[in-house]
Amino acid sequence: MNFEQIYSQTPDFSNRYISPEKLFSYLQTNLSDYIQEIGTSYLDKPIYQLSIGTGNIQVLAWSQMHGNESNATHAMLDLLVSLDKAPEMKDDLFSKIKLDFIFMLNPDGSERWTRLNAADIDLNRDFHNEASKEIKFLKKAAASKKYDYALNLHEQRTIFTTDGI
Ligand SMILES: [Zn+2]
Repeated sequence: MNFEQIYSQTPDFSNRYISPEKLFSYLQTNLSDYIQEIGTSYLDKPIYQLSIGTGNIQVLAWSQMHGNESNATHAMLDLLVSLDKAPEMKDDLFSKIKLDFIFMLNPDGSERWTRLNAADIDLNRDFHNEASKEIKFLKKAAASKKYDYALNLHEQRTIFTTDGI
């Protein structure tokens, strides 16, 4: 069995735009055992981290540092519902890795569908300045353990896409 055979889209999120409130509600309803609030945004929206897996390879990843780039949020939600249909594949993956996934690091920008946060800061340019609240929480999470991989998930403009989509 390969992943293409089990792939399915999370039915609750069929649009490119993801409402932060809808995401938070989904996480609380479906993944409450795996999530914790690791901080809050400029406008005090929660920032959630999902932790799953027991493996030795420690992975940190985060989505929607730029609010208008929802692909990685979708990908993570789809991965989880897809793997629920293939318990062996799920167990195999999460026995090898331990994944900490921060959903929507920039919930204010995600709400407004903008690249910047609510204080007009580009979080991807704020790593050294630490002018934003959100980057401080990301750095705290990144320093909390010794990660083998840290995945800063972005996407291209919508003109760069696959044929037929
Ligand atoms: Zn980006």
